Amino acid sequence: MPTSLSLALRARRRGNWLNLSTPAGLLVARAAGARLRRGPWGLVFAEGYRWPIPRAGAFTIGNVVLTPSTMDALERLQPGVTAHENEHAWQYLWLLGLPFLPVYAALSGWSWLRTGDPASANLLERQAGLGIGGYTERPVTNAGMKRLRDLARRRRRASHLDRRAQPPGGPLPLPGGALTPQPLHQQRVVGKGLGVSMRLLSTW
Ligand SMILES: [Zn+2]
Repeated sequence: MPTSLSLALRARRRGNWLNLSTPAGLLVARAAGARLRRGPWGLVFAEGYRWPIPRAGAFTIGNVVLTPSTMDALERLQPGVTAHENEHAWQYLWLLGLPFLPVYAALSGWSWLRTGDPASANLLERQAGLGIGGYTERPVTNAGMKRLRDLARRRRRASHLDRRAQPPGGPLPLPGGALTPQPLHQQRVVGKGLGVSMRLLSTW
């Protein structure tokens, strides 16, 4: 580990401090109960991060690398992960700090549409190194776009069936004034939607 930083790394440290990304990283680290220590290349390691999101082995805000584990343990599991996060620290500098976050989110969305995976076609992840970041490169198949198209097609079909099932003149009032209950297939869709969101909540 170098004891003194090169001019470029010192400029990055100052730049990410002034563009407020490193202070934001330190605030998140503090709020999420992480322990701070100095890492290589002017990075700060925030270990023992306790928030459940994002679900990542490590992630970077400015010069701060946050992980629920320790960077030594992660580096043993996934050699090169520190170098990968170090590239993200450079990206914060080039993107003038916190604009990194919406740019990253947009590129993740684009990557998902193209490959069905948020990292494979994400330029920021590719530039930081997919392999050392623990990502598997997926081919461009427009998998996400196809999934969205299928979903839209299923919705259209469901609403078409719905209209056909409806008696002319709209739903019949039930005894007691209530409207006809929803068709069964629609109840199933609602139940399925709830099941998905409950599953998501429980994995967070
Ligand atoms: Zn990354």
